Amino acid sequence: MSLSDPITVLSGVGAKRAEGLEALGIKTVGDVLFYFPFRYDDLQERDLESAVDGEKITIKGTVVADPVVSRFGPRKTRVNIRLRVENVVVMVTFFNQPWLKDKFHADQQAAVYGKWEASRASMVGMRVLATQDEDSPSLAAIYPLSQSVHQKFLVGLIKEAFEKYGDQIESVVPAAIRTHFRLLEDKQLVAWMHFPETPQQAQLARRSAIFREFFLFEAKLQMIKHRDTAPAAGLSIPFDNERLKSFISTLSFELTNAQKRVVNEICADMRSERHMNRLLQGDVGSGKTIVAAICMYAAVTANFQAALMVPTEVLAEQHYQKLHKLFEPLPVHVSILTSSAKPAGRRAILADLASGETDIIIGTHALIQKDVNFANLGLAIIDEQHRFGVGQREILRSKGLKPDVLAMTATPIPRTLAITAYGEMDVSTIDELPAGRKPVQTTWVHKNEFGRVADQIKSEAHTGGQTFVITPLIAESEKVDLQNAESVFADLKQRLGANVSVALLHGQMKTEEKEDIMTAFSAGKIDVLVSTTVIEVGVDVPNATMMVILDADRFGLAQLHQLRGRVGRGSKAARCILVADPSTDTGISRMDVMTSTNDGFVVAQKDLELRGQGDIFGAKQSGMPDFRLGDPVGDFNILDAAQRSASELFTLDPDLNQADNQALRRALSATAVAAAGLN
Ligand code: ADP
Ligand code: MG
Repeated sequence: MSLSDPITVLSGVGAKRAEGLEALGIKTVGDVLFYFPFRYDDLQERDLESAVDGEKITIKGTVVADPVVSRFGPRKTRVNIRLRVENVVVMVTFFNQPWLKDKFHADQQAAVYGKWEASRASMVGMRVLATQDEDSPSLAAIYPLSQSVHQKFLVGLIKEAFEKYGDQIESVVPAAIRTHFRLLEDKQLVAWMHFPETPQQAQLARRSAIFREFFLFEAKLQMIKHRDTAPAAGLSIPFDNERLKSFISTLSFELTNAQKRVVNEICADMRSERHMNRLLQGDVGSGKTIVAAICMYAAVTANFQAALMVPTEVLAEQHYQKLHKLFEPLPVHVSILTSSAKPAGRRAILADLASGETDIIIGTHALIQKDVNFANLGLAIIDEQHRFGVGQREILRSKGLKPDVLAMTATPIPRTLAITAYGEMDVSTIDELPAGRKPVQTTWVHKNEFGRVADQIKSEAHTGGQTFVITPLIAESEKVDLQNAESVFADLKQRLGANVSVALLHGQMKTEEKEDIMTAFSAGKIDVLVSTTVIEVGVDVPNATMMVILDADRFGLAQLHQLRGRVGRGSKAARCILVADPSTDTGISRMDVMTSTNDGFVVAQKDLELRGQGDIFGAKQSGMPDFRLGDPVGDFNILDAAQRSASELFTLDPDLNQADNQALRRALSATAVAAAGLN
């Protein structure tokens, strides 16, 4: 008997129900025990005086008269119940539950839970409670549900699981840490998360559960870090400094001081036997690619292979073109692997990689597939690393002997939070842009001013500049009235006339088509590129001078900053025009942030401030892991405590040998880590 037993061991769970549960992420008994409610309804009776408008409360009283059902609109109903509570008669309305009429009769005692409207002494009913049942809990846990998994069934399942398996729950946070922060043991935590008797119990359980979640994540990062920093855990790459220097001297520009500094930091790591696990951060356009190229070349001079993994095919192709050209005069063989490689081509690419014929490979996720083998991978670089998770970094790392890992990102998150996402890494920062860059002028206009924007695009084209026009969607959709790439493309072609060449690019196009268009745009043969966010990250066309983002309020700040970073990469002045009619305060704030700063750190900070909890899409954009319970911003104190505790624990007992740490050790085993969503 163990928590990893399949959920079907519980009564009433057949194949069909198991499927419904799996859709909620519940596969095992352990999963259901740790499937937590997102709120509690307070079913304890309240007196009306203390209730504030809009509060959800429970009231108890005498039904004044038999209720009636009234109908309004097609298929809509309302049951009104007048309930005398002390001296007040409260009108309780239940919408669209006509059957409730038969549950209430004049003079009967009744208890209901609902939303209190103080000014009208009325309530929108949410549920009917039993009055005589003294056993029923005073706090009811409310869970995220689905079509096939209902509240009552789920609660029954959790009860049964807890009765039968409760004793199997072991506490993963070591006792000393739990005592220090006054946290519950895991068994108690689970019990009180689901069945609290008081709000205090629920609160304590929640705090303990959040700590537990953060702690497991931080412990995993610490485990990686300690494994990596063990003496001789890594690979020494004795690169040829003279060849490296002469390569750098052939570049068409002088490296910035910041670039020189980070190249030195990275190269020192590579030469040492210590394993490198380093994050290179630098704002959009700060020149990370050339740093990557230099370090990869260093590895090649020591007869190692290097890999560069990127999130999109467009970016893979662009890096490939650049590096191919850069290394053309040298005996360095550069190759590319994406998921669109044809079987025969793919086999040849893999064979060259396995034999050591290929020195440098650039690719997408295709690089971390099972059948990809390297002869001697020495350096693995991950570009736009915020698009990948800890798990994917680990897979790429497992491809070589023990390759050094460099992760690059332009989305710096505030320092206080960096430790969460990158706690296991050392950090190098490029804090300077190449000389001669002019800040991108950003303005915000309304949609009805698009005609003027089109005129600006036209004059830009006439003076030799190039424009990106970004839209949120590919094709017209009935549901959402957003600008879409195809109709914007058609519209712009008409507005701009025959002298301006306009092209369309989106993710659903064939790879070759995408490549052809990007190549033509880079070569200046296209004036205006209408595109979806496939060009969001990494794309580098120094002659592009104007970025127009339609429905800009629909994008997150991190994404807007990335998009804007596609222009202003050369010496010409560049502009960014946000076209939007935002309907929310957040949308308006985003426009204000974008027009007031060009600094990625400031944008990231504002992004976190504006972002509501549970905005998973936004979280992904900035490289924060998704936590199920904890909010890294709102619960920062807990996060910080968890991080410190985990770090201290691993300093004292890096291999988790102490008796107190055995439960944690088991929890951090591969399957448990995957189950905890740490990928
Ligand atoms: P990012 O850091 O956003 O990945 P890139 O590496 O794509 O930026 O570099 C942006 C542009 O700046 C490229 O066109 C690149 O050739 C150029 N660049 C990089 N370093 C320098 C430098 N030291 N001086 C001038 N231009 C540079
Ligand atoms: Mg880049």
